[in-house]
Amino acid sequence: MIYLDNAATTAVTPAALQAAWPWLTAEFGNPSSSHELGSRAKEALENARAQIADWLGCRVTEITFTSGGTEGDNLAITGLALANPRGKHIISAKTEHEAVLESIEFLERMHGFEVSWLPVDEVGLIEPADLRAALRADSTLVSLMTANNEIGTVHPIAELAAIAHEFGAVFHTDAVQAAGWLDIRVDTSQVDALTISGHKLGAPKGSGAVFIRGRLGLEPLIHGGGQEFGRRSGTENVAWAVALATAIEALPDLASEAARVSALRDAFIRGVLQTAPMAIPTGHPSSRLPNIASFCFAGLSGEAILLELERREVIVSSGSACAAGSNEPSHVLTAIGIDADTAQTAVRFSFGHSTTEADLSHAANALAEAILAVGATGKISE
Ligand code: PLP
Repeated sequence: MIYLDNAATTAVTPAALQAAWPWLTAEFGNPSSSHELGSRAKEALENARAQIADWLGCRVTEITFTSGGTEGDNLAITGLALANPRGKHIISAKTEHEAVLESIEFLERMHGFEVSWLPVDEVGLIEPADLRAALRADSTLVSLMTANNEIGTVHPIAELAAIAHEFGAVFHTDAVQAAGWLDIRVDTSQVDALTISGHKLGAPKGSGAVFIRGRLGLEPLIHGGGQEFGRRSGTENVAWAVALATAIEALPDLASEAARVSALRDAFIRGVLQTAPMAIPTGHPSSRLPNIASFCFAGLSGEAILLELERREVIVSSGSACAAGSNEPSHVLTAIGIDADTAQTAVRFSFGHSTTEADLSHAANALAEAILAVGATGKISE
């Protein structure tokens, strides 16, 4: 099987699984307990936190473990907006993940916030001048993703965060897809809050963390015993925290891996465009994640291509996994101006750290066959 759906989820790396194992078995202590078993669990949790803080360039007290990207986005957006007395205006964009969109819509519905949705161009980019124009004296929070999960477009996050700060607004970024592929350190930017998800980088589903700058107030979502510096109550998932830190430590060198996979991606896109004249690449041509290549195959069903590829042992996604199961066209593709019919033709190939040139040459051949098969039987216009 050639797995090219790493933006949906990744396999748990053996190192992460091995590191988690003791904390699920013999070392089952509660980190809040004062006996030895508890102290060892606490130490493991705090070591994991320190590793992640070191990787992100922040203080240990600024890392909160979560159950993944969705919770991290909810906590950062809702928690920061509700704790900041500055005003009730939020700025974001319609190409964000549902975890961000729905958190903001919750604030609008239940807490009377007003939202400005920034326009995106046809490759999914936000114009920094549009952010500047949208900021107001009562703008509390700006939330813009580092990299898009469907089309791979990368935003100039340091620049956008600096603009938000000029107006005194707090800046959150969803870095779920960027982690492991781009430099997301927070000591070289003015980002105030950043979300990561473990299962996109070799840790188990249900693991994750959020960075929230220490000076900021945060209203917790989960109330209880006051764990995680009062930001997220509930007995900590020590095993998943350790797995997350270990998966991060096991990531390959960023610069060389980004160069390796970007070269594979570009060769793959060139090959697809040669063999499939109806293919329209989506996303920014250069400011994009190394590991995502997405296309619309005009006139063909993306879902049918996915199934034909699967018959050839190539696993991809026909849009965002989170939207799977619904026949609605992707909100990201429609936001960048792709019509609803064409959006149904989308296929996303997302590579992983173990993807090789040979995998992609097999995938390109399988795609050429899949397109022939779908063209013969499965046109969406039929
Ligand atoms: N944000 C982005 C950009 C994502 O791609 C995803 C998952 O696909 C999430 C948030 C949600 O993360 P999780 O699945 O860990 O809840």
